[in-house]
Amino acid sequence: MARMRRGVGLVTVAALGLAGCGSDPEPQPAPATAPAPTAGRQFAPGAAGIGDAYFPSYGNGGYDVGRYTVKVRYDPATDRLTGTATVQATATADLSAFHLDLAGLTVRKVTVDGAPARHAREADELVVTPAAGLTAGNGFTAEISYGGKPEPLANEVLGEGGWLHTTDGAIALGQPESASTWFPVNDHPSDKATYDVEITVPKGLTAVSNGVPKGRSDADGWTTWKWSEAAPMASYLSTVVIGDYRVETGEHKGRPVFSAVSTKLGKGAADASMARTTEVADYLESVFGPYPFAAYGGVVVADERIRYALETQSRPVYGAGFFQGGENTGVVAHELAHQWFGNSVSLAKWQDIWLNEGLATYAEWLWAEHRGTGTAQAAFDRRYAGSSSRLWQTPPAEPGRQNLFSESVYQRGGMTVHALRVAVGDPAFFKILKAWAAEKRNGNATTDEFVAVAERVSGKQLDKLFAAWLHGTERPPAPKRI
Ligand SMILES: [Zn+2]
Repeated sequence: MARMRRGVGLVTVAALGLAGCGSDPEPQPAPATAPAPTAGRQFAPGAAGIGDAYFPSYGNGGYDVGRYTVKVRYDPATDRLTGTATVQATATADLSAFHLDLAGLTVRKVTVDGAPARHAREADELVVTPAAGLTAGNGFTAEISYGGKPEPLANEVLGEGGWLHTTDGAIALGQPESASTWFPVNDHPSDKATYDVEITVPKGLTAVSNGVPKGRSDADGWTTWKWSEAAPMASYLSTVVIGDYRVETGEHKGRPVFSAVSTKLGKGAADASMARTTEVADYLESVFGPYPFAAYGGVVVADERIRYALETQSRPVYGAGFFQGGENTGVVAHELAHQWFGNSVSLAKWQDIWLNEGLATYAEWLWAEHRGTGTAQAAFDRRYAGSSSRLWQTPPAEPGRQNLFSESVYQRGGMTVHALRVAVGDPAFFKILKAWAAEKRNGNATTDEFVAVAERVSGKQLDKLFAAWLHGTERPPAPKRI
């Protein structure tokens, strides 16, 4: 994520009254057989959270999703969405029931492996009780039919995320949560999965999502847009943008390019910035290693509520304000850097957010250095001399949930990366970045693992450096070669 201007990136909103609590209107089928212990197994309900210390309710326990197939129909005129989500998962415990995250919306029917399953809502959780227990290690498929008026989620600290109804369509976007406002999901980056998304909208509107465009078809005044993300993706990186958009398509290095700019904006800086996406990606490839995904692109939205850009997988979404002052490749470098750091190499826990934002901030400095508009050392020096005491008091690797997107995570995170570069020298530093991207590709990783890779690749002991930069509560000494 990149914020448009310091301090105003995340909009604070009044608490939203989210619908969806309570019972569903339609009668539910009785399970064919009661879940029962078989062969000595004890089946128990999966946990309502995946165990993230900062966000205990995010995600769920007891299973691992491999693939989502989400098909939604949305009419901007009525703001109604209907959908089916097929969740292919593997049980990691013997489950008598399991949770999915779903905010608002009404569930009509759930099946597990084709058999009707009981379902109930507990606030933003959907609790599914299959007809028979699910055995650890076995795959299962849940299909959920649902619908209603989607609403964004209000986060008391971080602002809002999720489905926003716009004047011409909708935008589903947000970090650290968004996906559960439009489909049932294991909503935590530690459970990545592949996605096939189909969006049916009134003919004439564009509907964009992640990954490779798989064509579109028209029927009865509606158009279905098909998208496929075949690399594992964290749920907060999923997006849907519907509306009147100027689309540019092409091909680069054998991969499709698909970019879209809201027609509310006259053709200009936003289009020009999107057109430089592959050039920026090629530069980042030279420092981070191969581009990790099968498609390129970007979407520029014109909605005053989106005052940030988010690295939605293979196709970042940018608030229009980034381009008010003209072409802006800095923000493109930031969001594309996340394709390696954040998207391919993902967090295991939200506390480690600096791994995403520190490296993406540093990518902006590297891009400026590459373009000759300023060195990373100069960017570091300005911040080292001029940062506030609050930045030094907030350790980027332990920011606290209320500081998840604080200046320390971004700027001191970027300074930490530069301190590493100074300490080990350029050849080892760039080897570390490439090793990190390659070894953790399509996976999840932690700060401790980053430190371990940096020490192994450089052959240097770096614990003191990282302790001061990532965990200290005062300004570390200026970095020097060790
Ligand atoms: Zn970012």
